[in-house]
Amino acid sequence: MEDCSKVYNSVLELIGDTPLIKLQRITENLPGNFFAKVEAFNPGHSTKDRIALHIIETFEKQGILKPGSTIIETTSGNTGFSVAMVSIIKGYECVLAVTSKSSKDKIEMLQNMGAKVYVCPANVSADDSRSYYQVAKRLNEEIKGSVYINQYFNPLNTDAHYLTTGPEIWKQTQGAITHLVACSGTGGTISGTARFLKEQNPNIRILGVDAFGSVLKKFHETKELDPDEIYPYRIEGLGKNLIPDATDFDIIDHFEKVTDEESAHRARELACKEGLFVGYTSGAATQALFQLAQKGEFDANSHVVVIFPDHGSRYLSKIYNERWMQEQGFFDSQHTEAEKRVEYIR
Ligand code: PMP
Repeated sequence: MEDCSKVYNSVLELIGDTPLIKLQRITENLPGNFFAKVEAFNPGHSTKDRIALHIIETFEKQGILKPGSTIIETTSGNTGFSVAMVSIIKGYECVLAVTSKSSKDKIEMLQNMGAKVYVCPANVSADDSRSYYQVAKRLNEEIKGSVYINQYFNPLNTDAHYLTTGPEIWKQTQGAITHLVACSGTGGTISGTARFLKEQNPNIRILGVDAFGSVLKKFHETKELDPDEIYPYRIEGLGKNLIPDATDFDIIDHFEKVTDEESAHRARELACKEGLFVGYTSGAATQALFQLAQKGEFDANSHVVVIFPDHGSRYLSKIYNERWMQEQGFFDSQHTEAEKRVEYIR
C-alpha cells in the first residue's frame, strides 16, 4: 500500500499490496476470524490491475509487444479498464470488443481511458462473425503486431496471482490462514493464489464461489460440462458457461453456489456494517461465508481470508440502485431503508 513519503512514477507502481481488513460486524455470529483482501485499493479499483500489468510486462520481456503495439481484449468489465490503464502509461493502443449488453457508462469509461471500443451484438452465438470473440480474433489477425490478452485461456493470468496475491496474503496473515474464499470467473485469482498458499501449507482449504446458472461447480464435481446448468443470471464476473483453462480445478477443494438476490443484499450489508463499498461479487463471496459456516466449514480457530475483487462504484445502476433492486424483485417492501435516508428539501 501507499507509502506517503514516496513519490510514484506512475499509477502502475501502486498496483498490488492491497490491505487485508478484519471484518468486524457482518460475520460476528459466525465461528472464526474473517479478513477481507480488498482489491478496490488497486489504482484501477479491481484485482484485474494485477493481471493486466503482469501479462503486458511478460509480453514486453518476450518481445511480443513493441512500442506502439495494439493490445486486444474482450471485456467491458474490470479487465478492460485495467488493460486500458496499463496501455496508456506504457504507450500501447488498446482495443476492446464488448457486447451490446454493456452499460453506456462502462463503454464511456473505457473510451475515456483511451480505448477503442467495438460494441458487438450480444444475442449472437460465439462463432457468429459479429460476436465479440470473433471480432477480437479478426482484429488480432488484421492489426499487424497486435496481441490478444485472452484472460480465460492465458496462464499468465493465474501466474499474476501466484506471484502477488498469494505471497501478500501469506505475509499479511503471518502464515495463520486456514481458508481462502474466492470467486471464480476465469479462475485466475483463486488458482494462482491457492497455488502459492498450498505450497506454504497444503492444509489450507480452498473454497471457490460460483453462481447458479454457471457450469463450474458441477464440472469440478463430475469433470463434465453440463449444458443444463446454464441459464442467465445477474452477477457479473462470477461463474462461466465454458471451462476456462486459467482455472486449476484440482487445487480447489469445494465450490459454493450463491444466488443473485442474497449476494446483492450482502454487498449492501457490507457497506452499512463495515463501511466497505465493494462490488457485487464481494457480496457473493460474503454470502458464501454464511453458507459455508452453516455447513460446518469453520470453527473458532479458523482464519479465513475472503477476496473482495472490486469497488462498489461500478454497480451504482445495479445493486446500489433502489429501482434496479425493486425491478429484480429483491425488495419485499415499497420503501427501502436506503430510500428512507434521503430527504428532499423543496
Ligand atoms: N469478481 C469480479 C467483479 C470480476 O470481474 C471477476 C473477473 N471475471 C471475478 C470476480 C473473478 O475473478 P477471476 O476471473 O480471477 O476468477
